[in-house]
Amino acid sequence: MNQRTDTLPAPGRPGTVVAAADGLTKVHGEGATRVTAVDGVTARFLRGEFTAIMGPSGSGKSTFMHCLAGLDTPTSGTARIGETDLGSLNDVQLTRMRRERVGFVFQAFNLLPTLTAWENITLPGDLAGLAPDRAWLTELVGLLGLSDRLGHRPAQLSGGQQQRVACARALATRPAIVFADEPTGNLDSRSAAGILSFLRSSARELGQTIVMVTHDPVAAAHADRALFLADGRLVHEMPDPTAAGVLEQMKAFDVARRVGRP
Ligand code: ADP
Ligand code: MG
Repeated sequence: MNQRTDTLPAPGRPGTVVAAADGLTKVHGEGATRVTAVDGVTARFLRGEFTAIMGPSGSGKSTFMHCLAGLDTPTSGTARIGETDLGSLNDVQLTRMRRERVGFVFQAFNLLPTLTAWENITLPGDLAGLAPDRAWLTELVGLLGLSDRLGHRPAQLSGGQQQRVACARALATRPAIVFADEPTGNLDSRSAAGILSFLRSSARELGQTIVMVTHDPVAAAHADRALFLADGRLVHEMPDPTAAGVLEQMKAFDVARRVGRP
């Protein structure tokens, strides 16, 4: 794919901070059921950067992502998209921010079953009252190999095709940032590779900022960097991760945790 400066998803220079967490903490429950899911995480996400959030199950990855995306509210600390502190927005403003500036890809695809692929892809833009950018949408569905599937409903598509529709939907409005929570968790390895290479090239070639939560070292290896969470804390950052390097790091945490236990 060639560099296409006319398809950049959002204004801004490389190096621009498009999202940030400062001392972000989220406590679930109270008393005996109190869990500090995210514990004082500070991180910056730059334009065109593809970040993998890694960590074992229960380490706070989803909670952190939900707070950063405005789907959940931090107990303390801040989450920012662009210049906007999400904590300063009321519910209506937050909904508008999510619709206009944020794209989501979920493990379970979350497509609407009664809508065609095309209708699913254009729905967020319709809801945000944005005029569809046909040239961009056509390019996007072409990149994802969906051009001849647009009239199909989700049930008529494979898992890999459904997740490609979800990727097109996430990027359709050229959001400032795309959040993907275990996007390959329900896919076979071949479909997963297609999704991961699409995410990687949309960061590299389209300047799309992406934050992907995963526990899979192979998935993380497609990212520009990996952030490691353990017990809600940001414990390590790895630039240019490889699957072997990520696996090593995860094992080292496991050993440290076992040794640290009484
Ligand atoms: P991960 O995505 O890394 O598996 P989560 O963010 O889902 O981790 O969960 C982090 C911790 O917070 C876990 O101990 C989990 O049980 C707890 N947790 C997550 N969501 C809730 C919730 N809505 N209510 C209570 N506890 C929660
Ligand atoms: Mg999770």
